[in-house]
Amino acid sequence: MSGGPYRRANVGGVSVDLRSDTVTRPTSGMRQAMAQAEVGDDVYREDPSVRALEEHVAGLLGHQAALFVPSGTMGNFCALRASAPAGTEIVADVDAHIVTYELGGLAALGGVQTRTLTGLADALDLAEVAAQLRAFPGGQTYNMIRTSVLAVENTQVRAGGRVWALDRLERLRVITDQAGVVLHCDGARLWNAAVALGVPPGRLGEIFGTLSVCLSKGLGAPVGSLVVGDADLVERAREWRKRLGGGMRQAGVLAAAGLYAVRHHLERLADDHRRAGELAELLADVAPGRVHPELTETNMVLVDVPDAHAFAGRAAAGGVLVGTVGPTTARIVTHLDVDDAAVSRAGGVLAPLLRELPPLPR
Ligand SMILES: *Cc1c(COP(=O)(O)O)cnc(C)c1O
Repeated sequence: MSGGPYRRANVGGVSVDLRSDTVTRPTSGMRQAMAQAEVGDDVYREDPSVRALEEHVAGLLGHQAALFVPSGTMGNFCALRASAPAGTEIVADVDAHIVTYELGGLAALGGVQTRTLTGLADALDLAEVAAQLRAFPGGQTYNMIRTSVLAVENTQVRAGGRVWALDRLERLRVITDQAGVVLHCDGARLWNAAVALGVPPGRLGEIFGTLSVCLSKGLGAPVGSLVVGDADLVERAREWRKRLGGGMRQAGVLAAAGLYAVRHHLERLADDHRRAGELAELLADVAPGRVHPELTETNMVLVDVPDAHAFAGRAAAGGVLVGTVGPTTARIVTHLDVDDAAVSRAGGVLAPLLRELPPLPR
């Protein structure tokens, strides 16, 4: 599939790296696309490869425009801040990436407050969500903060790559439209959600006012994300990108990798999902209750262990790298650089470690 001269040999005795889908390296085909990319100065909007990527992704997601940015964190920030004036609030799930893993950028750099809800993705009644949006149809009060954006995450990383139900998203869009609130999607892994649901990415894209999508997760590009929305929104996001220092010059070499990834690595995400599912089944067999195959909807497997760091250390000693998302939760992620053989090697290391753990109380 992706061998060739650029493939890195195993490093430090590590045979399988399942910490994240960000660890992939560009394939030979992708590097060829990068080497051949036409470039120009993208701050002057003269890089044809960046423009091609932006147009392609905007079209794929059913929106007018897109903007190439260096990271998903910057993509979320630019998209959100383009809709959320300072002094307004963004409502999001308590476990959202924008709340947990972006170093408080919305507050620190954006002057925006986040308000978190528990169970936004599946547990919380939608009438309750609607009631939480501070929309002021009768005119704003003199002291109450206004909700500018409702942000959802699909797939949801801290829930182990769970996928939102389409109808729940659609009902949220009705609710946010009624409230005059923008519905944003942190779609770092929107591609995985679309593949898991068996729908084209545009079916999900059209539900949202704005999106941020990553090229450097499951799609396997080395760098980059896009902000997606209507043309005005994307122009405002472009200002924020420049303000943050994210305006790039001959970025076409990176955009070419991204375009290659979107064109060649989207459908294969189904393989990652299948492998994660197989691993989840195997591990659930040896450690019932610690792994939940029924919750493994995309490319992640969460493992409930007494001490996640200790577990990750023992796995690493066996040549398998896993991540941790909490003191008692380890995370396994399948991706472009792990094939069936690698997943089966990982199972051979992880299953005995799980078997040693005390059984969970029933
Ligand atoms: C990875 C990720 C991002 C952005 O990450 P960067 O590392 O900044 O590219 C945003 N949201 C979610 C859900 C992610 O998993």
